[in-house]
Amino acid sequence: MVKKVALECSQCGRRNYSVPARPNREERLELNKFCKHCGKMTVHRETR
Ligand SMILES: [Zn+2]
Repeated sequence: MVKKVALECSQCGRRNYSVPARPNREERLELNKFCKHCGKMTVHRETR
């Protein structure tokens, strides 16, 4: 069974992406992704 987590923009707080959760990882993932609301690359954090 695949768990999914949302990636939330650290600038505007919107959830822009969802990715499959990695069972091996306990810590939160941080990724640089493009936020269409901010119009630029921002840090996105994993949420549950
Ligand atoms: Zn944003």
